Amino acid sequence: MINVTKTYIPSLDKYSVYLKKIFSDGIITNNGQFLRKLKKELENYLGVKNILLVQNGTLALQIAYKLLELKGNVITTPFTFVATVSSQVWEGLTPKFVDINSETLNLDERLIEKNISHSVSAIVPVHVFGNACEVEYIDKVAKKHGIKVIYDAAHAFGIKYKNKSILNYGDISIMSFHATKIFHTIEGGALVIKDDELYKKACLMINFGIDGLNSINNLGINAKMNELEAAMGLCILDSIDEIIDNRKNVYEYYMNHLKGNIVFQKHNESSSFNYSYFPIILSNEEKVVKLVKALSSENINPRRYFYPSLSTLPYLINKSNVPIADDIAKRVLCLPFYDSIKVEELKTIVDIVNKNV
Ligand SMILES: *Cc1c(COP(=O)(O)O)cnc(C)c1O
Repeated sequence: MINVTKTYIPSLDKYSVYLKKIFSDGIITNNGQFLRKLKKELENYLGVKNILLVQNGTLALQIAYKLLELKGNVITTPFTFVATVSSQVWEGLTPKFVDINSETLNLDERLIEKNISHSVSAIVPVHVFGNACEVEYIDKVAKKHGIKVIYDAAHAFGIKYKNKSILNYGDISIMSFHATKIFHTIEGGALVIKDDELYKKACLMINFGIDGLNSINNLGINAKMNELEAAMGLCILDSIDEIIDNRKNVYEYYMNHLKGNIVFQKHNESSSFNYSYFPIILSNEEKVVKLVKALSSENINPRRYFYPSLSTLPYLINKSNVPIADDIAKRVLCLPFYDSIKVEELKTIVDIVNKNV
């Protein structure tokens, strides 16, 4: 069976070194030594300050909205993983979809400004499949209108824009370290918070709002990452450059061997790329359905990321008109893509794709 992704798992020997220490010290959560170490190492590796590790990317989004005290409508994209949007509804916000660019698959920044009204408190763009948004432009529009920007950078681990971390843009960026992402901590996530005061507030917020032994002044929640998760992250961070290099080779194999009627995502030329997904866009939905069937008959499971378009979510109140996102969602397919996939497996996939598009 070849699935769309395969979780990178470090050697048991390597993980055991951390486990032994955790077991002998007896500290398994609550801002332990490995959590603190992972935070520092991630800040160094990514080139940012104020990383706050949390239990998952969805909670990171929820905490970001709470921290910035968002209200009313939030401009966002219908072409993303559902958590970007469901977290908004969960926090009492109303997503307002703006259509995507059919080539970059990101929120079309040119459509943002005309959708801003006084009921809009923030923009939540997503660097879809690791493709950087036009961050300078988006930040400028937000500043002009006095609204916040939260980037969902769940796919954008290690991405640099003009040679600096993409996570430096917006008021907050969030990351997901779920097992299916290129860097993971089993379950996990993080916020990168530009403002130092807001960062301090967030540190308390993820620990019930407790700010001293006998002192609770603000509303909080429990969103802490534990030591076993942080240890997994430390094991993987050691190998992340190698993992991304291997993925680059897989990416190049696909690009050199896929032929025919396939459109690829257009990447932002001012930014680096992390090879986290391999989306292809076919000319119509029938072709996608036919290809999925042909691949699954060989036990190969691509995924229709992101399908259906989130404009079809039954729990949204706003009606939206996003024809490009609705169309792309029907025609996009993510092929199996992970560092340890074998050349023979890639060859089989490419043969089936080339025959069916
Ligand atoms: C994975 C993902 C999330 C949610 O992260 P979790 O850690 O799974 O909660 C949010 N947004 C996007 C775009 C994602 O891909």
